[in-house]
Order: sequence, then structure tokens, then C-alpha cells
Amino acid sequence: RFSGTLDIHRSDEIGQLAKSFQLMTEKLSENDRIRKEFISDVSHDFQSPLLNIKGYAELLMDEDLKEASRKNYAQVIQSETERLSSLTKQLLLLTSLDQLSSPLQLKTFAVNEQLKEVVRKYRWLIEEKELSLSMELEEVPYTGDPAFLEKVWENLLLNALKYTEVGGAIEVLLTDGPDHLTVSVRDTGIGMDKGTLGRIFDRFYRADDSRTQKTGGTGLGLSIVQQVVKLHAGTIDVTSKKGEGSTFTVRLPKLS
Ligand code: ADP
Repeated sequence: RFSGTLDIHRSDEIGQLAKSFQLMTEKLSENDRIRKEFISDVSHDFQSPLLNIKGYAELLMDEDLKEASRKNYAQVIQSETERLSSLTKQLLLLTSLDQLSSPLQLKTFAVNEQLKEVVRKYRWLIEEKELSLSMELEEVPYTGDPAFLEKVWENLLLNALKYTEVGGAIEVLLTDGPDHLTVSVRDTGIGMDKGTLGRIFDRFYRADDSRTQKTGGTGLGLSIVQQVVKLHAGTIDVTSKKGEGSTFTVRLPKLS
């Protein structure tokens, strides 16, 4: 593999060509480093549930096992399998976003209906955690990729639900503008400090207090959100205060 630098002083065509090769090489090795880091993170995240599954399956084979323990061990195996499954799904989604060979599948649809649908999907969790949910949705037709955008709302809502204590409040707002729409998801949850805020869009990043909670995350959700928003030429902003809550705001320009 080529490494090192070419010394270029010429401004002719060959010189220009060599210069762009050099830039490409630099970019490639940066990509290479990111890819290696990514693979090592993925392996690590697969390893621990696999170890748990193996360990508890072995324990289950003990013939003298008490009924209560049997149930307990089977539950661990089930939840670790679910974890692996959601990790795989998220990874596949991220990979498909990275290597998007075909353009987005654009459709005109009502974002307000889509948001309602996503909230409906998590009604059970909202009730289980006794959260109060308020929605203010303007009617907004928008042209974008509905399948990818659904993941954005789903990840933001699920995070708000996961990182908010029992009895907290969640707010989902959708407003229309002349050339863009804005979706905000606000929660009164655990919030984040500055250090955490700077890293939440990194792949696999999870704040320490999120790791210790039994929320079952992968650290990939917000990377997916960011990627999809970027593909729609939009922006995402976060404001948060530790112990008070967070607000995620997505702005999408109207593409057509
Ligand atoms: P995860 O699967 O861990 O939720 P994400 O990529 O969706 O992964 O989020 C990365 C991290 O950002 C989370 O682990 C958590 O520490 C922090 N985070 C995301 N959303 C919120 C929120 N609404 N409130 C507090 N922390 C959040």
C-alpha cells in the first residue's frame, strides 16, 4: 500500500494529477482507519451478548436446575438475542446509508401522519413508563424518503422514552415553514453534559449513565439519524442540560 508523500512543485497537468492522487491516498488511509475502528467496535458489541448466551445456555443444561433459575436464564438469552438482532438491523441500515448506490426513494407524504404512526407504535412504552406525551403537529406534506425518515423519528422518540424517568414528559412538535419543516422531540429526561453532547453522533458512543441503565441501546441510533438528515440536506441540533432534559430539532429543506 502506498504511503508517504509525493513532492510536487509543478503546476502542470501531471503535477495536478499527482496532487489529487496524494489527496485520495490521504483520504483512503483515513477511511481505512475509520473502517478498522468500526470493525473492532462491532466485534466488541457482538462479543458480549454472545458470551452471555453461551454461558447461560450452558447453565440451562444442568439437570438439577431450579425452575426459577431456568426461567431467569432463558430470559437473559432472549434479551441478548434481541440485542443482537437490533444491532444487526441497525448495522445493515447504516451500511446501506453509507453505500447508497441508488438515490433516495423520494415520495410526497404527510409527515404529521408519519409522526403519529411512530408515536402509536410506542404507546405501550409511554404507558408503561407513565409518561405524559403531547403532540402538536401541523399538516405538512413533504417530499423525501419515507422509510429512512421513519427511522429518524423512531430513533429520536425512542431515545426520549428511554432516557426519561418514569412520570416524565415528552413533546413532539412539527411546524411548517415556507422552505423547510421543523420537527422537535423534547424530553424531561436525564439530559447530557457538554462532553457527552459532543459525542452522541459517533458510532457506538453511549454515555456512561446510559450504559448502566437497562435501556438496551446500541449507540448507532443517532448516527443513523444524522446520516439520513444529511442525505435530505437537513440539519439536526441538540440542546440538553444534565438532569433536566433534552431537545432534538431536525430541520429539513423542502427539496422540491
Ligand atoms: P443508544 O442506542 O445508546 O440510544 P444513540 O446513538 O441513539 O444510541 O444515542 C447515543 C447516546 O446519546 C445514548 O447512549 C445516550 O447516552 C445519549 N442520548 C441520546 N438521546 C438522549 C436523550 N434524549 N436524553 C439523554 N441522552 C440521550
